[in-house]
Amino acid sequence: MIMMVSDILKELGIGYRLKLNSLGCNECMPPYRQKLIDFVTVHKEHICEDCTRRVGTNPIRVLDCKEQKCQSIYANAPKLINNLCTECDSEFAKLQTLLTQSGIAYEIDTHLVRGLDYYSKTAFEFVSDDIGSQSAIAGGGRYDRLVEFLDGRPTPAVGFAMGIERLMELIIMPQNSRDGYYMGAMDESTLDLVVKMAHQKRSSDKVVLDYKPKNLKNHLKAADKVNARFCCVIGEDELQNGTIWVKDLEDKTEKTLSHEEFYALKETL
Ligand SMILES: [Zn+2]
Ligand SMILES: [Zn+2]
Repeated sequence: MIMMVSDILKELGIGYRLKLNSLGCNECMPPYRQKLIDFVTVHKEHICEDCTRRVGTNPIRVLDCKEQKCQSIYANAPKLINNLCTECDSEFAKLQTLLTQSGIAYEIDTHLVRGLDYYSKTAFEFVSDDIGSQSAIAGGGRYDRLVEFLDGRPTPAVGFAMGIERLMELIIMPQNSRDGYYMGAMDESTLDLVVKMAHQKRSSDKVVLDYKPKNLKNHLKAADKVNARFCCVIGEDELQNGTIWVKDLEDKTEKTLSHEEFYALKETL
């Protein structure tokens, strides 16, 4: 599942750091929890209010306290990965071997914990530094005891959650670049000429022709809608002068060209 999330993020072009921890099992978690309570109790004068409350309700959660003063104390707290039972320890080692063999970089974060008791063994989190500091974009792990908590038969389980809004912030969408020519007439009397010129221009370029005469503002809107690079319009003046009005929608420049110049116009110019 970690590999799958890694593949998804790679496909989307999103950089990440992968954090791993083991939360142990029924056998190794309770003695560790007691060790941690003992440690925190020794330092209880110096920890924050939230942590003081957590020691009684959910001691493991003190480890991901956001307070700097707490974190500097917990840096020396006993670590669960050093207190795992043989089974949890070898499974955690095996996971790391598999990730290393698959070329997936990870870091152990002993403060990556979960608040609920049905979580067990592997916990993982994909974080990005591109949206705020260390924002989690996906996280998951094992929750082998969940089904039992719901009165079911013991059923091992694993899963993850992904923040779609956060992913969307991180995806760099390919620039949808403009291309081709949009051509239109300002009034009925110039339409024939526009149709003829569009036909000729099409022999070498991509042309979208609008058969309905309309004012300049509406032509510009329509050209934008079809994502054309150039909006090319002929009105009464252009008809009389043998010219065509052209706006480059990319660099926003406007010019009036002779028909020859127009046929010779290339998008790279
Ligand atoms: Zn264990
Ligand atoms: Zn705290």
